[in-house]
Amino acid sequence: MDTTKIGFIGLGMMGRGMAHNLLKAGFNLMVWNRTASKVDEFAAAGVKVAASPADLASRRDIVLVCVSDTPDVEQIILGEDGVIEGIRPGTLVIDHSTISPRATRRIAARLAEKEAHMLDAPVSGGSEGAANGTLSIMVGGPVEQLERAMPYLQAEGKTITHVGDHGAGQMAKLVNQILVVVTQLGVSEALLFAQAGGLDLEKTLDAVKDGAAGSWMLSNRGPQILRRDWRPGFTIDLQQKDLRLVLEAADELGIPVFGASLVFNLYRALQAQGLGSEGNHALVKALEHISGIEVGREA
Ligand code: NAP
Repeated sequence: MDTTKIGFIGLGMMGRGMAHNLLKAGFNLMVWNRTASKVDEFAAAGVKVAASPADLASRRDIVLVCVSDTPDVEQIILGEDGVIEGIRPGTLVIDHSTISPRATRRIAARLAEKEAHMLDAPVSGGSEGAANGTLSIMVGGPVEQLERAMPYLQAEGKTITHVGDHGAGQMAKLVNQILVVVTQLGVSEALLFAQAGGLDLEKTLDAVKDGAAGSWMLSNRGPQILRRDWRPGFTIDLQQKDLRLVLEAADELGIPVFGASLVFNLYRALQAQGLGSEGNHALVKALEHISGIEVGREA
């Protein structure tokens, strides 16, 4: 039996599903969440609850984190009552949040001063993937720490890829995000074009989705767009956070990112209209506003 003590910080849309899967796999789990009510369902299942990130780190061998943005991870790990205040030498911190690659390298260096280890392990696959344990996990950091982390990552995801040293996991996640938004733009433009051309949109989707132009985005979000169902798998606000990270990293690298910056500005227009909490497939609305054409029908 695996007696490793693991702890999970951040029981949001993603963290909740991941922590449930770790519990289901039988691991010795402890949790902490800023909003205390989110730990109730875990406490009811017999999971230990920490008083703070520092408290959790002082009693765990492996600390998993899944919170929102770079300043949040910095606060949880390096801030007051943060992981670093309780951490013991040898402990491994696995960060599942999507944050800045540069900040990741800085956090790993601070943890190393305490002889603690870090892996950046951002995920893709949405809240459905987190709940079903089918996430893709992109890992940066020392390979021996990944070997140590593997049983827990395998409880959370299906495709686990070591892409390089600290920060490389976050860079791979940003590659993923460029692909997501540029594909989303293609789906939006294509459906608007089909609508303007008077095509039956469902038949058109069926005709193209399994050919060379097929994609997860087209198959999953295309039908949602036709139903005008804007419920989020991933919100515009969070997508925009990731695009900001893409633009910052591209600026540091000195490379142009035409598609990502165009989509960033289209989403900015939707945020200005108060649509930031809608799903990222609502990108089509920005093109609708510009063209005066509406795709699909009311649900
Ligand atoms: P979420 O539902 O908004 O949950 C965010 C979690 O972070 C909550 O537990 C929240 O605590 C906690 N948190 C945020 N700021 C904090 C702070 N300063 N101190 C302490 N706790 C803090 O977000 P999510 O969808 O789970 O996303 C989490 C991460 O996964 C993000 O980096 C996101 O980009 C990434 N991700 C999300 C998806 C997706 O489809 N949703 C997919 C892939 C990757 P409270 O409960 O107190 O608010």
